[in-house]
Amino acid sequence: MQIVISPYPTLHQVSTPVNFFMPPVGNDWSQFEKDYLHLMVAGHGLGMAANQIGITQRFFGIGHESFDEFKKPVILYNPRVTKTSEEVEIDREGCLSFPGVWYNVYRPVEVEVEWQNMKGEMQGTKLKGYEGRCFQHELDHLNGITFDYKAEENNQ
Ligand SMILES: [Zn+2]
Repeated sequence: MQIVISPYPTLHQVSTPVNFFMPPVGNDWSQFEKDYLHLMVAGHGLGMAANQIGITQRFFGIGHESFDEFKKPVILYNPRVTKTSEEVEIDREGCLSFPGVWYNVYRPVEVEVEWQNMKGEMQGTKLKGYEGRCFQHELDHLNGITFDYKAEENNQ
């Protein structure tokens, strides 16, 4: 498992739903999650999408101690946004597939989201601030959209 750097084909592919019959890598789902999140945290990522390690399935890791909901890194499967605030704000984003690159991106301030856990159980919450931004950045990845497409201004 390793992080791919842009340009790379899977970064621009639309990912397909996770089916839960078998883990995306190997045959031990807990071990897969451990390895995946270890890679994300080792890279100092607040999030990491599956296509950033070359897998075009709909899941990503997210987590940081400063977050309200995902204080510890977790993997969210088949995530989606069900509602967005009209209010948007601009902030600086980085990406594990764009080392040393930062872009200012406008995003809705609040999002209501849903996802499934490893067992396929539905979960949901409301996210705001940088945590909501992170979720939206990762969800874009699953739709083949990297943050440079949305950049207002290049801060590198
Ligand atoms: Zn990214």
